[in-house]
Amino acid sequence: MNKSTPEIERMVRDIEYQIPLASGVLGRDTLDRRVLAAMRKVPRHEFVPADEVPYAYDDGPLPIGCGQTVSQPFIVALMTDLLRTRPDHVVLEVGTGSGYQSAVLSQLVKQVYSTEIHCELADKARERLSRLAYRNVEIRCGDGYFGWREFAPFDGIIVTAAAPHVPPPLVEQLKPGGRLLIPLGWPHLPQELLLLEKGVDGQVTSRDVLSVAFVPLTGEHPAV
Ligand code: SAM
Repeated sequence: MNKSTPEIERMVRDIEYQIPLASGVLGRDTLDRRVLAAMRKVPRHEFVPADEVPYAYDDGPLPIGCGQTVSQPFIVALMTDLLRTRPDHVVLEVGTGSGYQSAVLSQLVKQVYSTEIHCELADKARERLSRLAYRNVEIRCGDGYFGWREFAPFDGIIVTAAAPHVPPPLVEQLKPGGRLLIPLGWPHLPQELLLLEKGVDGQVTSRDVLSVAFVPLTGEHPAV
């Protein structure tokens, strides 16, 4: 099923309308044109259940099964922009969900590795991305708190579920010069999207981007 350009353009307008919320951290009033091009290209209606298709281009999260959601398009676009990807980058996503964020990233980087704790969602996303011919995304079922050591270090890491702290294995698996985005906080309480940067000297700095509401990062983790 094809979706019409007006619906996609409406989604992009809704995204652009909210950019001032994050312009301080972005350092500009617009998103990278390559990110908007990727958002235009990925058919979000292919990533949601049939009964959610009429809402696929609305700027809100949608249910995808297993009690999980595909994130709001504005947040997907903003996190993608803040990663500052380049075509030669290798990135890690924690929280594959529907595979939508992976598909957007796959337009911008050389390789995406994505982990999902619900094997049912991981299998569906893998099948979907293969059917839609996204060839540079690899998905595995597992706890992304521990990253994906085999393919580390990563140029960028994006966590799409909220955690009470930044998982130390993810910081370790980030390349010097790399960026990591993660919603920090507890479910049903205010969470902050955090942008962490690892300097070329290995020093880590971080700043808050904006308030967000994500599903929790689940699994058995050490308290830090
Ligand atoms: N990025 C997804 C997309 O484009 O559809 C949406 C992600 S949804 C907001 C968060 C996802 O993180 C859920 O699918 C959830 O099962 C997954 N998740 C939660 N804890 C996880 C963990 N420890 N490791 C990997 N995935 C996890």
